[in-house]
Amino acid sequence: MEIGLFQPDGRCNPAYLKLDLYCKGLRIDESCALGEDAREIIRNRAGLGSGLEVVIGEDMYTNIPVVEWWVQNSPYWLVKRGQAPHAVPGPVSADAGPAKGSGTLREPDPIAGYEIWREKRPFDYDAYDALKPAGKGPWLGKLDRANAELVDTVRIPEEPKWYKQRTSSGKLMQRIGCLQGTYLGIYWGPRCQNWGPNGENEYCKFCTEGQNLGSQEEVDKSIEDVVETVLAARKESRITFVHINTGFIDSNDYWGLFEKVMRAVKERTGLLLGLQAPPDADFENYRKFKQLGVNNVSLCFEVIDEELFKEIGPGKARRSGLKRYLDAIDFCANDVGFDTVNGEIIAGLEPVESSIRAIDWIVDHGAIPTVCVFRPVIGAAYGKRKPPRVEDMLPVFQHFYRRCMEKGLPIGIAPNVKVSLIMLPEECRGLMPNPAAWPLTRAKLWLMRTMFGAWFNARVKV
Ligand code: SF4
Repeated sequence: MEIGLFQPDGRCNPAYLKLDLYCKGLRIDESCALGEDAREIIRNRAGLGSGLEVVIGEDMYTNIPVVEWWVQNSPYWLVKRGQAPHAVPGPVSADAGPAKGSGTLREPDPIAGYEIWREKRPFDYDAYDALKPAGKGPWLGKLDRANAELVDTVRIPEEPKWYKQRTSSGKLMQRIGCLQGTYLGIYWGPRCQNWGPNGENEYCKFCTEGQNLGSQEEVDKSIEDVVETVLAARKESRITFVHINTGFIDSNDYWGLFEKVMRAVKERTGLLLGLQAPPDADFENYRKFKQLGVNNVSLCFEVIDEELFKEIGPGKARRSGLKRYLDAIDFCANDVGFDTVNGEIIAGLEPVESSIRAIDWIVDHGAIPTVCVFRPVIGAAYGKRKPPRVEDMLPVFQHFYRRCMEKGLPIGIAPNVKVSLIMLPEECRGLMPNPAAWPLTRAKLWLMRTMFGAWFNARVKV
């Protein structure tokens, strides 16, 4: 089966749509009222969370680029339903080819909701060259519906009320942590020292963390600020997983940096806990993290090509080096044995074959790849680059799913963890020519998910 935006029966393929939106972004029709309906756009997580949170299909959370210069070239539009009559889509072909509207007009829908539409013009990758790589969206306009087709209805998750709550020290909770899909992400520690004061010009070229901290995220947060925010997010948003990350500190003593905050969150909530940090100076500290109750460790080496690794992240190369990242993944997955260990890469920063090699390396060492799509974000050194082509990303994500299934890795086990910044491995099933493959592995994963969910519910404290 050929993989495209539409399935043979004419319905949208949500997995392809999620991937294509990462690559192309989304323009905003004048009918939208995002100020009222959406979560505020918060630039965090090295800038990757700079987009609009949207739910595609049943529960496919995604964070879609909307403000970057290259989004102007996107054929995709967000439209608020019920604002104007529009064409009813007719049956479509598997190749996502030409015009799909039936030509009849639908009356305004009394129930307002959101839809994604696509212009019928062929997508022109070279058109990026004619655009000025500057300016800041969201790119608002009026969609010409006569020359566009409905792709799918989507949901814009509301901003949680706790975002505007304050901790007892007076800090706005959305500046302590934020939802990325359905889990809570929190940055802990000082600004990544690749950004200075002594690491100037050593930051990773895709990253904007050094600009976000202080402006978008609180630099000084106490353990109590964190615990109160976690409790509020659990109460209202029913989070199950708290992911705490940091950048480089000179000592590389991440146990020293995280021990107290991790212990407080674990002891007072019992929620699943993830750690994302550069390789620790002492790998034995990972055993202490495990003992404390950390469930997941994630190490982001981004690219496996040694020369590109140095070029893209000079600070990472000087302070750690690629080998130490790989050794840390190996140690955490095979010597310590956390519930899961992730090796994180960014597809689109190195040739497709290299990304595939990185996926193979991670899987062969018992870890699960986290594969981001390169997003040239505003303010990053690579912010003026073009985004990757979906045609190049597709084989990477297909390989990612294939290898996870072949190896029987524990994917999609944690309850209610939907991630908006990346394609989850289980979501990539929708990108496969034969999604029915590996039935036994999928049945085993379903059983593991059910058992782990029951185990979690019995232990969670709040
Ligand atoms: S290590 Fe690189 S990606 Fe991570 S925060 Fe520092 S500069 Fe950004």
